Amino acid sequence: MALIVHKYGGTSMGSTERIRNVAKRVAKWARAGHQMVVVPSAMSGETNRLLALAKELAPAKTTDSYSRELDMLAATGEQASSALLAIALQAEGLESVSYAGWQVPIRTNSAYTKARIESIEDTKVRADLEAGRVVIVTGFQGLDELGNITTLGRGGSDTSAVAVAAAMKADECLIYTDVDGVYTTDPRVVAEARRLQTVSFEEMLEMASMGSKVLQIRSVEFAGKYKVKLRVLSSFTPWDIDINEEAVSGTLITFEEDEHMEQAIVSGIAFSRDEAKISVLGVPDKPGIAYQILGAVAEANIEVDVIIQNMSKDGRTDFSFTVNRGDYAKTIDLLNEVVLPKLGALEVAGDAKICKVSIVGIGMRSHVGVASKMFRVLSEEGINIQMISTSEIKTSVVIDEKYMELAVRSLHKAFELEQAPA
Ligand code: ASP
Ligand code: MG
Repeated sequence: MALIVHKYGGTSMGSTERIRNVAKRVAKWARAGHQMVVVPSAMSGETNRLLALAKELAPAKTTDSYSRELDMLAATGEQASSALLAIALQAEGLESVSYAGWQVPIRTNSAYTKARIESIEDTKVRADLEAGRVVIVTGFQGLDELGNITTLGRGGSDTSAVAVAAAMKADECLIYTDVDGVYTTDPRVVAEARRLQTVSFEEMLEMASMGSKVLQIRSVEFAGKYKVKLRVLSSFTPWDIDINEEAVSGTLITFEEDEHMEQAIVSGIAFSRDEAKISVLGVPDKPGIAYQILGAVAEANIEVDVIIQNMSKDGRTDFSFTVNRGDYAKTIDLLNEVVLPKLGALEVAGDAKICKVSIVGIGMRSHVGVASKMFRVLSEEGINIQMISTSEIKTSVVIDEKYMELAVRSLHKAFELEQAPA
């Protein structure tokens, strides 16, 4: 007998018929003798619908009092889907109880709309499991110190599930979603993309942060920190497929470098369109300029990614970095109005039509020449590289967004990702 956490995404919970299917699948696992905790998302579209209602009444604000109410509001989506699932399980003949995050409680900080889980009290859930109940815990939400309901950011139910699995020391956390696993790249861009049977936690983290939106990135960090065995699999297989077959389907996120694991040098190609490049030109080259520029940007809560400072000429240098495209206008304004006058730099220039393409693989740690192969492939396609950044297991390039698909396809082919490694 194992303790298993299942997480179901919004699409899987999208109608009463689908909720009934989820209940039948969960019942199958419970009848096989497992203790089951289930963490659902809201029914698909529900979180958007609720947040849109708020916007109809008042334009989005960043004040705490407004954000608090957004959390109060959005949390109801998961409360509804959780209760519906408990009812469906009862209709299947199982004992089942649902809890909102605040009832468990799942304790978080008070950063409304993007709260972080601090601790989970598992006594109540454990008692229910011991009494033979299937326990449903709402995804996406918790309770802060002052008793306010908080939410964990969009896609946060993944993190709830992994956090519950970590706190309960579950044997495995299965994330059921509308794709059947993690792919070498987005199959909508490369038809030959292949599902990975395993992917290391480090690779998954790079891919999640690079815009492969299978899992919320926080959930991967959590899984890594607490060594939660995590699997991503499809909720669209028939609910009554053989449980042993289901238990090994999808993609397993692994921790140790197991010898039997797929040993590709490059495991996947990630990409992100939501990028923009900004350059500050003619910056006087003296100590403190990086801090003056990036410090101001960080203070405005803008995340910076790839950073380049050029060699200086005649005492001046150019400084470039990328930001999320949504922050582009705000960053340009900030630099022009606040930073430029103080810095004595000449000009701020930018380009919002860029993208980032990355090759990711733990094999890159022990192999040389992987990045240069990437550069060769891009040059053969005539694609100009504007910026480069590397980590131990990743090389990213910033290129014109109109070449994104071409770049991803050629790299996928050059690294032979359509074939399973020998
Ligand atoms: N319902 C929330 C959202 O749409 C949380 C989740 O689905 O993970 O973002
Ligand atoms: Mg999701």
